[in-house]
Parts: sequence; structure tokens; C-alpha cells
Amino acid sequence: MLANNPSKQTKHIERDFSNILKYKEKKSIRDLNVRNKQVLVRVDYNVPLDEKGKITDSRRIKNTIPTLNYLLDQNCSIVLISHLGRPGGKIVESLRMNPVHEKLKEFFPGVNILKTDDCIGEEVQNEAKNLKEREMLLLENPRFHIEEKKNDLDFAEKLSRLADVYIDDAFATAHRKQASTYGICSFFEEKGFGFLVEKELEFLSSCIEQPQRPFTVILGGKKVKDKLGVIKYLIGLADNIIVGGGMAYTFFLAKGYQIGRSVKDLSKVEEIKEYLKDDTHETKIYIPKDILVCDDIDDPKMIKSVPISDIGENDIGVDIGTETIDAFKKILSQSKQVVWNGPMGIFEKKEFEKGTKEIAKFLVENEIFTIIGGGDSAAAIEKFNLQDGVAFISTGGGASLDIMKGSLLPAIDCLSDK
Ligand code: ADP
Ligand code: MG
Repeated sequence: MLANNPSKQTKHIERDFSNILKYKEKKSIRDLNVRNKQVLVRVDYNVPLDEKGKITDSRRIKNTIPTLNYLLDQNCSIVLISHLGRPGGKIVESLRMNPVHEKLKEFFPGVNILKTDDCIGEEVQNEAKNLKEREMLLLENPRFHIEEKKNDLDFAEKLSRLADVYIDDAFATAHRKQASTYGICSFFEEKGFGFLVEKELEFLSSCIEQPQRPFTVILGGKKVKDKLGVIKYLIGLADNIIVGGGMAYTFFLAKGYQIGRSVKDLSKVEEIKEYLKDDTHETKIYIPKDILVCDDIDDPKMIKSVPISDIGENDIGVDIGTETIDAFKKILSQSKQVVWNGPMGIFEKKEFEKGTKEIAKFLVENEIFTIIGGGDSAAAIEKFNLQDGVAFISTGGGASLDIMKGSLLPAIDCLSDK
């Protein structure tokens, strides 16, 4: 199962953390003079909605309460902007911010919270101008305008007219260069990050920069390309890298195994071969030794466990096998810090959830310090009701991956220097 040579013991590779730590040079909400000012806060209220348009999980709104309370205490008037879903540059009625507006009113019962029907234009500007101290104004979904995603500067300038100070508290969107997260910063003198962004940056960067060792990274899910970037940065820094989920099959190909009809990224096989060959560091890479396969994900008539050397032509790999679960648990039991990004199988289906569930339960029951990154991984932890047992669940999938790749988030980079 061990993919590279464990007897080769060399030093950890020195990493350059300057990109990750650059946020410390940026202004936080505490460094800005916001008293009595009108503040535009970029939040990420991209909440899940059911068919009736009801919010099924309002944590993204709840997570911004500390920032909003701070601003209310400072007598600010607050303009809020967030995207919701993917309307694709046109008005989509089901993606209006109305459910978010209702939820905000529940969270802030004593505060007058208004909502506009657009996010730019004369009417919106007037409503913003008339906003009083300790009132809030929620803008309509900026993705109703094609300019938002294009980071259009004219559009960003129009948004900037609505306030004096800009605060970014949208961690989950901080890896994107869009008008309301990036372009807009050109038009504000005073701009900094809020408490949610601060907490995320502090937690995630310290896990990479000063890991408790042994430090184990679990990578799964199916975004092979994104996650290989994490391997590239953490090789030589982490003690162990465990690969499972849909990621693993491209690794099997790199090792010369057949994978039947399982997910793969053929463009990444050569890169993986390089990682597996590289023995200039002491990071051990582990891949599954057995997996669960089926014949049809939606309607499985056959589900069985096979060693990775025995995957049939018609098989689809859907979870890690029991031997692998035990082997991974052994590595985790010797770990002091675990960063987990990507489920071990198609956990959304009961038949294929065991690998993800067993690993999650093991981490919580053994009180192993665990950080969860990745939207689907967080959903898995919630599904198994284990969210209270882990040290930290990041609210940003792509943004947390970027930090684990050693990158600076663009929406943070454009904030004011201290
Ligand atoms: P995260 O959001 O945690 O970063 P990804 O987005 O990369 O994770 O991938 C999550 C998805 O990967 C889940 O929906 C899960 O069903 C899927 N997945 C996990 N294992 C497999 C597999 N063996 N084959 C196909 N999909 C898988
Ligand atoms: Mg995902």
C-alpha cells in the first residue's frame, strides 16, 4: 500500500510561507476606523435552498454575525452584498436574496433590515443614501449582472458608491476575482477583512505553517486536478498523505492497475508518477489496497469488495474497502493533526458511505485534532452528525484548497496594507 520508499528518511523540505502569511500585513476590521460610517460588507450567503426556496442550512449567515454585531456596536450603517447560486448574468426569480433577507431578520430582531431589487443604479444608490445608523440594507444578487463574474471595473465602481468603507467577510469566495470581491477594492481607500475571514485564515495557515506532528493529510473526492496542487505543496511538509475517494483511481492508473469504469483524470497520470517516484522527502503517500465496486451507481445490483489488483472491466469504484479502512485508521491513530479534504467514497449513497463514515467516526472518537476543508467533506461530517467533534470546519472549499497549495487569496491580497 505504501507508494514510495518508507526507509528513505530525509529532512522535511523548507517551505516558503510568505504567500500564506501575507494576510497578516493586511488590515482587519479592527484596524479600520468604521465608527459612524457606511460600510459595504461582502458576505457569502450562497446558502442551499430546497425546491420551495427555503434555506436548508443557514450557517453561512450565522457565521457573519460577529462582524455585523461589531459594526452595529460602532454605529455603522451596513450594506450587505452576496451572490446566490448561478443565475448566469440574468435575473432568475428563484435566486433572489429574499429568503436570506427573512433569515437575517430572524437573526437580528431589533434591527431594521431593508432589501433592494438590484445592486446598482440610481434607486439603489438612493436607498443606500437614506440608510440610517444601525440599519442594514441587503442588495440583490450581483450575479444577475454578467459583469460581476467578469470582474468588470465599471460595475465594481458602481457598487463602491454605496459605502465609505469595504469589508470582506466572504471567505468561501475569496479565491475568486470578481467585481464584488476583487475589482471593487480599487475604489475604496479603506478596506479590510472581517472576523470570519480572519478566523479561517488564522486557523488554516497555522495548520500548514506550524503543524502538530505527525501531520496527516487526507485527500479524496473527485477534483483530482485541484487536489494534486495540494500534494505538490504539502509533499515534504506533511508526514503522511492518504489518498482515497475518486482521487485514488488516477493513482491506481499511475501504478499500472486497471480501474474499470471508475472516475479518472488521464491528464494527471504522468504527474502522479513523478510524485510516487520522488524520494527526496520523508512524506509517505498511502493509497487504498482494496475498494468497493459496483456495476451501476444509481441502481447497483452487484456490490463487492476487491483488491486493487483485481478491478474488473465493468466495475465502478465507489468506496474504500475494509482492509483499507483499517490501514488508514492505523496511520491516523499515530497522527497529531489531520487535514481532511474530500470524502473516501460516494458517501451521499448509504451503500457507499462506510469508508467516509468510519474514518470520520474514528477521528472524532479518538479526539484527533482534525480540520475539514471542502464543501462535500463538510456535508459528509454533518450527515454523520460529527461536526461538534472536529476542531474546525472551513466554510470555503476552493479557498481552503488554495491556502493548502500555498497561494495567496486574491480577494485578501487587494485589501489595505496595515
Ligand atoms: P470536497 O467538496 O470535499 O472538496 P470534491 O468536490 O472533490 O470534495 O468531491 C466530492 C465528491 O466526490 C462527492 O460528491 C463524492 O460523491 C465524490 N466521490 C467520492 N468518491 C468517489 C468515487 N469513488 N467515484 C466517484 N465520485 C466519488
Ligand atoms: Mg466539492
